Amino acid sequence: MQKKNNLFSPSDIKFLTNALLSWYENEGRVLPWRQKGGAHPNPYLVWISEIMLQQTTVKTVIPYFERWMKKFPTLEDVAKAPLSEILLSWQGLGYYTRAKKIHECAKVLVETYNGKFPNKKEALQKLPGIGPYTSSSLMAFAFNAPETVVDGNVLRVISRLYGITSPVTVKDITPLAIDLTSQTRGADYASAIMDLGATLCTPKNPRCEDCPWKTLCQAHKENLTDIIPLIEKLKKQERKGNVFYIQNEKGEVFIQTRKGKGLLSGLTEFPWNEDESFPFEASFEKKGLVVHTFTHFRLELFVYQTTLEKGAKLPFDGKFVPFENFSDYPFSTLMKKVIKKVVKK
Ligand code: SF4
Repeated sequence: MQKKNNLFSPSDIKFLTNALLSWYENEGRVLPWRQKGGAHPNPYLVWISEIMLQQTTVKTVIPYFERWMKKFPTLEDVAKAPLSEILLSWQGLGYYTRAKKIHECAKVLVETYNGKFPNKKEALQKLPGIGPYTSSSLMAFAFNAPETVVDGNVLRVISRLYGITSPVTVKDITPLAIDLTSQTRGADYASAIMDLGATLCTPKNPRCEDCPWKTLCQAHKENLTDIIPLIEKLKKQERKGNVFYIQNEKGEVFIQTRKGKGLLSGLTEFPWNEDESFPFEASFEKKGLVVHTFTHFRLELFVYQTTLEKGAKLPFDGKFVPFENFSDYPFSTLMKKVIKKVVKK
């Protein structure tokens, strides 16, 4: 990235910070986990929203967040709930590791911190599922600390403000974002810059005319918003396999709980593999292909259905359940796609 940190004078920086805060007071989004005019009084809400918002849009998260808060109004409610209930409430959000870490973290907070979040970044990062990004968000939104939170929205806004036309990463942008961060209104500032990215400085057709930064923004001045930011994408690894929707003579369907510590562990699934083999002799009917994209890879599974003969044994641990009872089990998004493929409505 070309050097850009001398582009603005200290008075320009002050202007940018204050202009953004004033804009936020009038135009910032109203969200169920947010409180304008300072930190949110309940870090539990901030934490749940932050974890849900990883990899998921605000629009999708809102109904999940509201249902979650009705079901688990306090941290203690999460800590004492069985994992299966937590996973069931997470169903549809994907990336289930997040839900498992919430459960683990809630237990640690209740057992070790008396149900309170520590207000130090280092202590927060020792908790399960809380890394540098979430700890900075919690410090800003729940404790009003002057923390710089850089997500995709912030990366886009800052790259455009500074007119950076070379490929950028969060690491490149962070020092520039730090300069702009309000030292006294950490919560409002972090919300404001995210809102600017989400509502005005959008990936396509940004509304520069309404933007509080339009007088200094380089991308706007030089008509470069179409090409900034330039982000180099890593090609995802591709994996393939088969998944088996197995019914018994009563029409019940075989399910199992995924073991181990992996991405989908604890969730309900149909037997599947990644070597495209068939685990036992039967007459399998091909029902189609499901494709699911995880963070680091893309998975393609061919869906096969079969009905077992009475008394036939399977080489898996699990059980047969009626289709009508599927809603009692936390199926992953991948497995829900399999169900749709077999049970066409
Ligand atoms: S002026 Fe336009 S490009 Fe620049 S920050 Fe504002 S919305 Fe984004």
